[in-house]
Amino acid sequence: MTGTGTSAATTRNATSTWRNWAGNVSSRPTRTFSPASVEELAEAIRTAAADGLRVKAVGTGHSFTSVATTDGLLIRPELLTGIREIDRTAGTVTVAAGTPLRRLNEALAREGLSLTNMGDITDQTVAGATSTGTHGTGRDSASIAAQIRALELVTADCSVLTCSPTENADIFASARIGLGALGVVTAITFAVEPVFLLTAREEPMPFDRVTADFDALVAENEHFEFYWFPHTGNCNTKRNNRSAGPAAPPGAVSGWVEDELLSNGLFQVACSVGRAVPRTIPAIARISSRALSARMYTDIPYKVFTSPRRVRFVEMEYALPREAAVGAL
Ligand SMILES: Cc1cc2nc3c(=O)[nH]c(=O)nc-3n(C[C@H](O)[C@H](O)[C@H](O)COP(=O)(O)OP(=O)(O)OC[C@H]3O[C@@H](n4cnc5c(N)ncnc54)[C@H](O)[C@@H]3O)c2cc1C
Repeated sequence: MTGTGTSAATTRNATSTWRNWAGNVSSRPTRTFSPASVEELAEAIRTAAADGLRVKAVGTGHSFTSVATTDGLLIRPELLTGIREIDRTAGTVTVAAGTPLRRLNEALAREGLSLTNMGDITDQTVAGATSTGTHGTGRDSASIAAQIRALELVTADCSVLTCSPTENADIFASARIGLGALGVVTAITFAVEPVFLLTAREEPMPFDRVTADFDALVAENEHFEFYWFPHTGNCNTKRNNRSAGPAAPPGAVSGWVEDELLSNGLFQVACSVGRAVPRTIPAIARISSRALSARMYTDIPYKVFTSPRRVRFVEMEYALPREAAVGAL
């Protein structure tokens, strides 16, 4: 790579293979580059265009599809990180695009602030998560991209655009969930609110009861989700609602047993056995569905919404109107 892109610290071996988190997608970019500034990024795009290469930005590779792959120039996020500004009057935080959600959540919590809603993990970059519409649950609150108030984008002609509902509004509307197709996002401004407490109620529940009571469970809870264990009539449910407190996080030992030992350690063993001997899967599902017990805890949002997920998996997702959910199941 020429220009600023030639730095040994930021240019990677041209033949190195990129793999996503799940390990089901790989690509071999002609070159990779980790820009440390918007100017370095623009220069790298200019050079790539002159060399006839296409450009794709990647986050932490948590997408299960090939949406982040390229055979051209792969822009990596590691050096485009950190909080740029917190504006308490406007109720916003502006963060560099490669910042992992974990770092954003921790920084906001230190400032007594929080995002309103989020998905299941905090490993993704803010740009990667929003670019694919990453979401959690929410009766009244939407995906992370819905919380974007402005973003900064470097386009294919190396222009640096600020986009918001009042500036480049059409581009803003598309770039919030841009799938990496509109340019490289370099910073995002999110709406934030004073940090609040959520009470989580996790409870095993029969599939028949979940489906019969689905409308009430959704109507009565700010967040309702459930996991069905195929080959069984059992589900695990989780209800999250705002709470006046006090905070009552899971105990250190019980939290470790549920979140690490059962949900990661033993789950990994169960998945490996099921993969090696598929006929054991119904029995494993029956045992797994009884392993997690009911519990309640109250904590700040990211500690309730998100969990460590160390067992590698592949996932697909369908979007349906909520009224169709039970029928589709
Ligand atoms: C364990 C696990 C749990 C998950 N949980 C959830 C969940 O609860 N809810 C949910 O909805 N999804 C979930 N996902 C999916 C995940 O949130 C998305 O795939 C997300 O896009 C991953 O972010 P990333 O930083 O890894 O981006 P990548 O997968 O690396 O990239 C995703 C897309 O973003 C684009 N992109 C990345 N950075 C930029 C940038 N700077 N500018 C422009 N485009 C960019 C890429 O080109 C690509 O198109 C989960 C995935 C895993 C592996």
